Amino acid sequence: MVVPSGAVPLPRGSTVKALHRHGKQLVVESARNGCLLVHLGMSGSLRLVHGSDPRSDDRHVHAEWRFDLPDGSELRLLHRDPRRFGWLEAHEHLHSVRRAWADRLGPDALTLEGPWLHGVLQRTRRAVKTVLLDQAVIAGIGNIYADEALFRAGVHPLRPARQVKLRECVALARAIRQVLQGAVEKGGSTIRDHRTADGAWGSFQRMHKVYGKAGLPCTRCRTSLRGVRLQQRATVFCATCQPRRPRGLPGAVDGS
Ligand SMILES: [Zn+2]
Repeated sequence: MVVPSGAVPLPRGSTVKALHRHGKQLVVESARNGCLLVHLGMSGSLRLVHGSDPRSDDRHVHAEWRFDLPDGSELRLLHRDPRRFGWLEAHEHLHSVRRAWADRLGPDALTLEGPWLHGVLQRTRRAVKTVLLDQAVIAGIGNIYADEALFRAGVHPLRPARQVKLRECVALARAIRQVLQGAVEKGGSTIRDHRTADGAWGSFQRMHKVYGKAGLPCTRCRTSLRGVRLQQRATVFCATCQPRRPRGLPGAVDGS
């Protein structure tokens, strides 16, 4: 957790003006211009707890803010981070947050369009999944959702990015948007300890087609799903539905 010395991200007595998000980073903006930038890391969370909630679990809480509600009760915002991969940053103004985002992060994954993605993938020899996970290229895709989107688009995760055709990029961009939107609506995927801000379990894991399912039959073709490691991350795919060297792509419009 990094908070620059002397900085006060949410000054005492201030009110929350707005919440912002880009990729996996969140910002709480106070009415006095102070901004708290939160990166949740691998298993970090922000949780809202009523002051009187007996179920409140304060283990792994690294930072806490207290808010007075109009009805006189108290709300606590807890930053929990069991694996300590997350961090906090204080910014004086939202525009300095936006500058940091522009320097560090690619466009938000929910805004992806196929032709833009194709242009980006054309410029690298890296595996397509590696590029999808690179937050400096595209912000917001995690390991689970990369695997799920690649399966839905029929793209092998280890294919050299520059070989992925425009038509496939259109399908991949659409799959990324749909998978992420679906995950947001279902409160995320609770594999181990993920919870939503109000403490509920996510349920998108029930929609997973490949993640965590190596060795099980593909839902489309019944071939056993394969599991490999890519940059220390579990990667699951169907070698039939996501061929490593696709033969002929009817309708490909880029002619390559
Ligand atoms: Zn399959």
